[in-house]
Amino acid sequence: MRLIAQLQDKLAALDGDHRRRRCPVLDSPQGPHVSIDGRDYLAFASNDYLGLANHPALVAAARDGALRWGVGGGASHLVAGHSTAHAALEQALADWLRLPAALLFSSGYQANLAVITALVGRGDAVFADRLNHASLNDACLLSRAEFKRFAHHDLAQLERLLAASTAPTKLIAVDAVYSMDGDCAPLAALLALAERFDAWLYVDDAHGFGVLGEGRGSVVEAGLHSERLIQMVTLGKAAGVAGAAVAAHAVVIDWLVNSARPFIFTTSTSPLLAHTVQASLRLMADEPERRAALRARMAELKHQLAGLPWTLLPSDTPIQPLLIGGNAEALAVSAGLRARGIWVPAIRPPTVPPGSARLRIALSAAHQPQDIVRLADALRELAAS
Ligand code: PMP
Repeated sequence: MRLIAQLQDKLAALDGDHRRRRCPVLDSPQGPHVSIDGRDYLAFASNDYLGLANHPALVAAARDGALRWGVGGGASHLVAGHSTAHAALEQALADWLRLPAALLFSSGYQANLAVITALVGRGDAVFADRLNHASLNDACLLSRAEFKRFAHHDLAQLERLLAASTAPTKLIAVDAVYSMDGDCAPLAALLALAERFDAWLYVDDAHGFGVLGEGRGSVVEAGLHSERLIQMVTLGKAAGVAGAAVAAHAVVIDWLVNSARPFIFTTSTSPLLAHTVQASLRLMADEPERRAALRARMAELKHQLAGLPWTLLPSDTPIQPLLIGGNAEALAVSAGLRARGIWVPAIRPPTVPPGSARLRIALSAAHQPQDIVRLADALRELAAS
């Protein structure tokens, strides 16, 4: 059939460019060691930064949650899907993030679509860092606001764009921690610009939550307080479960409930997951040693990988990208590691700019010092081959 043939041609073109993607299929839980097709791998692939995705306390909480709540959300939050498990988690998250109110979503992707389309529309303007996550870009496009992108961290360009705009509502959107680079946005300076030009500041803290600010995330880390600040955190990365939350002024949250289509027209996240995330928050608070272990692994990695022909991008977060350059080369190094029982995904365009294919090494508190040594030894071997 012609339509299928068209897609086959497009897939073949991706193949030619080393950009065809396939999902690896795990037959184990997440963790520093995973099993794929029955073979064990030392894994640096997931965003389970605190090692909670398979933690016994969370597994027990999920079991208790299922017994108490069943498994399904049943309906959208507004129709019949909101339980005290959801309400309690929203309150706990607002308290933990030190923001007035919070709202749950089933994913960070959805939360980004929800907030940006609810706050800006046709005639308004969004100002976005060029390396923002794809979900933020999609949200900006969906909003129909004027979509102005500034070069990565280029505050002078952002200032010029803001000064030139006459849009009635302006919104600055950034990742707090860049998911493929590991670097952090200059949040205090961004907030100062937002104040000066009367804009919202929307911070996607998918990768800072649980890790930075003693686990409370990038906004607490930066010591920011402002009614124009909105923080999005995801619950499937450091929190180890699934979903997301937006925390902000109570009026913002009320407006999202009343106008954000990705909130209104979707089934609520399972109450058992909401119950389980409360256990994650308790571990984040009670076990700061997880973040200490993560920092130690980061330091060991930098030390161990010095001297390789590939460089680690500067990053003080668990996302440690090793820049390789070409797509085929990055795939070859990733395949070489895989042959040695180590799994580090190669990240290629369009996820990253052309010519900057990389290995995205994601560290976890559950990694051991010897895991870092094993990765470094394998990379040295591949560099010499
Ligand atoms: N924002 C950023 C910066 C992300 O890295 C991700 C996930 N990769 C998301 C949003 C989407 O979050 P979720 O996976 O919960 O949809």
